[in-house]
Amino acid sequence: HTISTNEDTITAIATPPGVGAITVIRVSGPDTFSKVDLIFRGRKKISECNTHTIHYGTIVDPNGEVIDDVLVSVFRSPNSYTGEDSVEISTHGSQLIAEKIIGLLVERGIRIAEPGEFTKRAFLNGRLDLAQAEAVADVINSRSEASLRGARNQLDGLLSQKIDTLREKLINTSSLIELELDFAEEDIELLPLAKIISNIGEIEKEIDELLKSFRFGKVIRDGVNVALVGKPNVGKSSLLNYLLKEARAIVSEIPGTTRDIIREEVTIEGILFKLYDTAGIRLTEDVIEKEGVERSRKAVSDADVVLFLNDSTHGFDRDIYDELLKLQKEERILKVANKIDLKPGLDKSFDVGISAKTGEGIEELFRKLKEKALGSGTYTEKSAVVTNLRHYNALNKAKEHLIGAKNSIKEGLTGEFVAVDLRNAENSLGEIIGKVTTDDILNNIFAKFCIGK
Ligand code: GDP
Ligand code: ZN
Repeated sequence: HTISTNEDTITAIATPPGVGAITVIRVSGPDTFSKVDLIFRGRKKISECNTHTIHYGTIVDPNGEVIDDVLVSVFRSPNSYTGEDSVEISTHGSQLIAEKIIGLLVERGIRIAEPGEFTKRAFLNGRLDLAQAEAVADVINSRSEASLRGARNQLDGLLSQKIDTLREKLINTSSLIELELDFAEEDIELLPLAKIISNIGEIEKEIDELLKSFRFGKVIRDGVNVALVGKPNVGKSSLLNYLLKEARAIVSEIPGTTRDIIREEVTIEGILFKLYDTAGIRLTEDVIEKEGVERSRKAVSDADVVLFLNDSTHGFDRDIYDELLKLQKEERILKVANKIDLKPGLDKSFDVGISAKTGEGIEELFRKLKEKALGSGTYTEKSAVVTNLRHYNALNKAKEHLIGAKNSIKEGLTGEFVAVDLRNAENSLGEIIGKVTTDDILNNIFAKFCIGK
């Protein structure tokens, strides 16, 4: 991926729509400098400017009328985001000015970029691998410290390096098989075979580690889905209200999309929690209520953690708990006693006691929620973590091929069969960083980007 396959030059507004102090227009591709020179008036032509320099001037239309004064940042290939010649034109913050300038560029043969096309070009030109390109979108969409950190790590290549190492190990193992193929007639075959088996085992173990990190990665990236469940009057609304009033870092308040489920979001210690207040789960014959009950059940089964709220003055609601167990694993249910201001001391059926009225125990509640959501794995800020379902699926495929390779060995098949399995495993890993890819995969990924990125 060292030579650009893009012949045309693209442009788009890179800043969000609406009023702001400045608006930035991106242009990238081989004709960038010559075309921008047709509409730019400054002390120097853009095509004569050095890379990484900024130039003041005006943009003028064909009648010589000034549209705006601007700053043009110049980036020469290959030292630009896309790897191509490119500029960023900063105008006064106005959608109208930006659209006029884009219009002038289009009249001169520049094409409007598709969503994500700048980043796609960065990938095609080898500036980023595919996992890093995907991280660009994650960085943009980050809404919590943890998700930003995770996306930053992926953008910095933490996952890519790990995948590269695993691919290298696979290639080394394949070369042992070639060795074995060449000497198959002789007695030395036993030695490489043992080495091959142990190598495959090691690689599989590392893939398992990455697969295991996905639960943590998903939480880091998307936040923790918490279903808030409990009988009427245990204090569900009070708890939500308390959080909205008192929590130091509220992200947003999203009004319920349905009558039955209200969703609130808070970040606590950098982790985004999405709380779903359910109407309560109970089996009902009531036709009107049935849909709401179905939604609540779904919220419970989809949740990362179920916050099962009880009124400590009434004790543990065993009947509801039994219903929950039909929908969720026991270890994902946090048993919480509310109103401990009325009844001090914690019954041992509960994991944590709180008061939605006084705020007592709320910090511990979030510590426990975090524990439940993140699982038992220990990850540091510098761990390679899988946050993306596409990567997770590719790792699973790679693992299947490795199991295939082990089976081929067990069944005494010739080295060729084992080699095919290993190559397939290597290709599956290659999909993650884009060593192996198809137009469909690329289009799918970049279509989710915004215009101008
Ligand atoms: P929900 O039906 O589960 O949403 O329960 P609500 O939040 O509407 O609370 C029911 C009643 O319990 C209200 O009168 C609340 O003021 C009261 N309540 C809720 N939490 C507490 C608490 O921690 N301590 C006390 N003393 N009262 C509470
Ligand atoms: Zn309520």
